[in-house]
Amino acid sequence: VAILTGLDLSWMPLVDGHCHTVVSGELDDSAFEMWCTEASSPPATGASYLDSQLGLALRRWCAPALGLPPGAPLKDYLRVRRELGHQQVLGHLLSSANLSALLVDTGLSGDGMLDVAALGEAAGAEAVEVIRLETLAERVAAAGTATGFAAMFVDALNDALTGGAVAIKSILAYRHGLDIDAHRPTTPEVTAAAGRWIRDRDAGLGRLTDPVLLRFLLWCAVDTGRPVQLHTGFGDRDVSLVRGDPALLQPFCAATQDAGTALVLLHCYPYHRNAGWLAQIYPHVYVDLGLTVTYLGARFTAVVGEFLELAPFGKVLFSSDAYGLPELYLIGAAQLRHGLGRLLGELVDDGAMGSDDAFRVAYQLGGANANRLYQLSATAKVA
Ligand SMILES: [Zn+2]
Repeated sequence: VAILTGLDLSWMPLVDGHCHTVVSGELDDSAFEMWCTEASSPPATGASYLDSQLGLALRRWCAPALGLPPGAPLKDYLRVRRELGHQQVLGHLLSSANLSALLVDTGLSGDGMLDVAALGEAAGAEAVEVIRLETLAERVAAAGTATGFAAMFVDALNDALTGGAVAIKSILAYRHGLDIDAHRPTTPEVTAAAGRWIRDRDAGLGRLTDPVLLRFLLWCAVDTGRPVQLHTGFGDRDVSLVRGDPALLQPFCAATQDAGTALVLLHCYPYHRNAGWLAQIYPHVYVDLGLTVTYLGARFTAVVGEFLELAPFGKVLFSSDAYGLPELYLIGAAQLRHGLGRLLGELVDDGAMGSDDAFRVAYQLGGANANRLYQLSATAKVA
């Protein structure tokens, strides 16, 4: 009986192509648990968000980084975590993740969170910013007028990219849904929509949800030529899951193909097969494993296989989508190495690929695709 153990990828450094930052202070046990779920309510009686695939992965991969055996009970883990203190825990977990670069979406940053430079320092990795379109637009609108909005937004976006940001992020799925008209709005349409939005903002309705303006932001992002990351698939309860199906972006993929700007579909689950199809049929569409790789725990092995059913290997990217806890960077990285190693080992055993091909694919997903797409080495030289 063959025992499948998979390819050993434990040595491989990774580029984390989409993450956020971590809380900068101590957490009590219930706050810790709430960082381990997409829910916003406390768990039901008899349930815990850590009695889950994510909880198992946390005990498996993070306990050894804090000097405990793999799978140590949660109460032991949380006790050791408290004894070590925030700074030590951060250092142990991020260095164990072995990341060479982090792309940080700063749209969720703020008080009580580490800044991008401090996060990179703790990880011993290059950390670069990803600009969130809707947050930037809200900043611009707060300072401007309806007629000036479009030009001011373009300037602000270009300034952010000149300042070192390597990519752009869209949360269209949260603010409207991915089912948008694919066409670039006209200048009069944008000005009229900005006027409505600014009036609403003055009435206390600040969030940008207007589909004309959301489309305008996306087209501005496409114009820059930098990769555009789009939230798709699951997330917290603010997102409409069915309107987050990446297949809804097909008209936008078709409309932007000639521009050639890369569209990176983040998360994707449970529509990852739809996303893989888009990555196959549109040369500028990529898929990213973030959030899925952490939340699915050991089941990620099966799902990464499904991502790689249709998507060309050169268009699949790793990220953790870690937010809040340093554990989530390590879980993402460890689960990617393990799950991808298992999948590739199985394909080698089956005769589908040789081990040289298997290692090549591992390098592609682990960092080579991200280095090429986001031009990270060039950025490092500028910095
Ligand atoms: Zn995210």
